[in-house]
Amino acid sequence: MLGMMMNAPLLVSSILRHAAAYHGGTEIVSKTVEGPIHRYSYADLSRRSQKLANALQRFGLNHGDRVGTLAWNGYRHLELYYGISGSGLVCHTINPRLFREQIGYIIDHAGDSVLFSDLTFLPILEGLADKLAQLKAVIILTDEAHMPKSECLPNLICYERLIAGEPDEFDWPVFDENTASSLCYTSGTTGDPKGVLYSHRSTVLHAMASTFIDVLGLSASDSVVPVVPMFHVNAWGIPFAAPMVGAKLVMPGPNLDGASLHGLFESEKVTFTAGVPTVWLGLLDWMDGHGQKFSTLKRVAIGGSASPPIMISRFQNMGVMVRHAWGMTETSPIGLAAALLPKHEALSAEQRLIVESKQGRPLFGMEFSVVGADGKPVARDGKAFGAMLVRGPWVAASYYNAEKSAAYAVDGWFETGDVVTMDEDGFVQIVDRTKDVVKSGGEWISSIELENIAQAHPAIKEAAVVAVPDGRWGERPVLTVVLKPGQTFTRQDLPELYTGKISKWSIPDDVIVVDELPHTATGKLLKIAIRQIVIEEYAK
Ligand code: ADP
Repeated sequence: MLGMMMNAPLLVSSILRHAAAYHGGTEIVSKTVEGPIHRYSYADLSRRSQKLANALQRFGLNHGDRVGTLAWNGYRHLELYYGISGSGLVCHTINPRLFREQIGYIIDHAGDSVLFSDLTFLPILEGLADKLAQLKAVIILTDEAHMPKSECLPNLICYERLIAGEPDEFDWPVFDENTASSLCYTSGTTGDPKGVLYSHRSTVLHAMASTFIDVLGLSASDSVVPVVPMFHVNAWGIPFAAPMVGAKLVMPGPNLDGASLHGLFESEKVTFTAGVPTVWLGLLDWMDGHGQKFSTLKRVAIGGSASPPIMISRFQNMGVMVRHAWGMTETSPIGLAAALLPKHEALSAEQRLIVESKQGRPLFGMEFSVVGADGKPVARDGKAFGAMLVRGPWVAASYYNAEKSAAYAVDGWFETGDVVTMDEDGFVQIVDRTKDVVKSGGEWISSIELENIAQAHPAIKEAAVVAVPDGRWGERPVLTVVLKPGQTFTRQDLPELYTGKISKWSIPDDVIVVDELPHTATGKLLKIAIRQIVIEEYAK
């Protein structure tokens, strides 16, 4: 017997309709590419997204066609999110930090018909002129006064002009909630980028779950800055979660340096923000150097790569609560969040930091399984480690237009490629990426654990550990570091740094000081390139 409730599909447009109706006056503030700060409201976002949806009709697109975006976090990008997906098209966010060839590959692979781009990316567009000439339109996200002239791209369209004459009412179509809503490619550190095609249902459910108190904990009282870019897994769903609860949304635009972020946090009375550790390192160092404090910031979510415990302490010392979280493009992304339990209240700050530094517990909707080499679940004791498998309504079932489905282990589980431990409360700790773990003499050494310890040393700004081939042990860990100005750190300092914190055989064999560590397009340490630097250093 079926239940007798209404069958209302979970559609992205319903989030916008709700925000406009019940949080219509709440502000959206954007730092623009053109310079000034732009302010408007959810009601304005709704009106302009409807104008855009009307304008899109002119290109003769079919339901499900892909529309690309190359844009920073800003109000026009938000209008694209809603105008494109809401009208039944697929919003394909492209990461502008990828190599030009990868961007070209992605536009081809996705089969984008129309492309919207911020002014900033004109050089990228010009480099891809031949490819773009085959699209139905390339639209620049600016007004007429700022429209660029490009000889190789003569038909660029101005966004403001495109939507100007359109009616600000559009009947958002109602369709199956499993319809594709947006497309995001993984950063492709291991081969060609792979497309993850989100549905309206997965997007709405993920956004709802992310607002839980023990996850991002968003409410109408918050002023929220997604520092994580909208081209990186939908800015972790915040452009959907914030309007869902009516939080003020503050968009940082292109400048993510310490001074710019701190200024924005203060002027917009920001209470919550989210981003990757690299960005926070820049912000915290800038604040230390300039004797600055936060006057309104209460919570920060850190994810994308492991947050070093020292980073959590630094935020806490400034009165900011840290929510460490785990996710991947294939999981929309949020799967784990590290909120303390009542039993942790009695612990010392040091003991609590151990729990807060874990990647966290599964949120409702996500199932996790940690399996050993035999495919059987390992003990949930916080010590035994295995491969982490996940499944749930916002986990990719397969990649877009790919011959091979998403890597499946058993019974429809998605293999994350992360090696983890899980304790009796369900707290997961990432030991390493399967491909980054150092396999030494039959034992596994966690590069993340070694990096976290190095990161707490006063001379070290940033640290990365990679495996180098070793005749006797198979592989051995080597530490690479960027030093703080005027500091030194040598091989002789390694025993003092590590002894007593990890087993003796896990201590890195060597340290190499570099001026800069390479990062991926999403701000993670690029281990393949770092390994190459180390191997070349040894070959000298
Ligand atoms: P995203 O694009 O969201 O960063 P990717 O798919 O590129 O996602 O990378 C996902 C991987 O990033 C995870 O499998 C994991 O190895 C790593 N990761 C994400 N969050 C964390 C975290 N909090 N701690 C450690 N590793 C993390």
